[in-house]
Amino acid sequence: MKLHAFGIRGSLPSPSTRGFKTSAYGGNTTSYYLEAGPFRIILDMGSGARPLGNLLMSNGVIGKSFIFLLTHYHSDHTQGIGFFVPLYIKANTFHIHGFTPDERRGADPIRNIVLQCLEEQQSSPYFPVPHVSLPAEKLYQAHDRMFSEVFYYLHRDGRYMYISEKESAETKSADPKDVAKVTTIPLSHPNGCIGYRIDYMNKSLAFCTDSEPLAFTNDRINTLCKDVDLIVLDGQYTAKQLRGQTQTFGHGTPELCVDQAVACGAKRLLITHFDPGHDDAKLKEMEEACIAYLAKQKKKTPAIVEFAREGRTWEI
Ligand SMILES: [Zn+2]
Ligand SMILES: [Zn+2]
Repeated sequence: MKLHAFGIRGSLPSPSTRGFKTSAYGGNTTSYYLEAGPFRIILDMGSGARPLGNLLMSNGVIGKSFIFLLTHYHSDHTQGIGFFVPLYIKANTFHIHGFTPDERRGADPIRNIVLQCLEEQQSSPYFPVPHVSLPAEKLYQAHDRMFSEVFYYLHRDGRYMYISEKESAETKSADPKDVAKVTTIPLSHPNGCIGYRIDYMNKSLAFCTDSEPLAFTNDRINTLCKDVDLIVLDGQYTAKQLRGQTQTFGHGTPELCVDQAVACGAKRLLITHFDPGHDDAKLKEMEEACIAYLAKQKKKTPAIVEFAREGRTWEI
């Protein structure tokens, strides 16, 4: 698998300005692209989704399938959807995953909850192109936000088939190169959030941004991300910020990310969702302190911690 970072910022895009440089780490909000064999998987659709969509278009993605894994509906994870050009191509197909917010449980069972949430986010008078009118074929799946769920994708003739856990026997006879397994991970964040673990050909990625560890490591991450090859975690704040008014905003610190990665035995840690108030110099200082904190740990996993940077790729 290959993971590409297109947006690494949290809360709000943070372009470089005079006296506030962000070009080394990046200023776009959350969007990552995972290539797993034949699978094209997009993790969140913040402002980084725009350059990702443009790159995919220049590589000629017409008549292709994609999997969107949305962690939640906050704007820093969805604001790129209307600017993602492959959604304007009728021949493309998007399998879009999200969760059912608490206030929507039991409401309108006919229309998918993920579709309803994205329609509201992209509707008049807030956006000129209604979500439903995006020409690509769009298929929606809503997951529980409190309980982990497992599902699969099967690749056949360039198309992706969604397979629920109940139907997972279908994946047994398939070539392993054509099967991706996805596990949802409940996270601690205002209005809800889910992370995702993707397993493909004995390699694994966990994407758990927008999660506040509070006093303890998240035991569901500990269990569901056990021994994962690469874990992406939210280290938005400094310890001082988290002790102050940002507590309960639903984000962690780089040192808490190290504690979490050590607890689940992740082999490598990538920190993301940087504060819009932190420029390159501050992030460099935080990254160096985090590397020093990891070096003090007794356990040897994770072996590596680094801060994400836009434009960078990680081989898994
Ligand atoms: Zn966020
Ligand atoms: Zn959020």
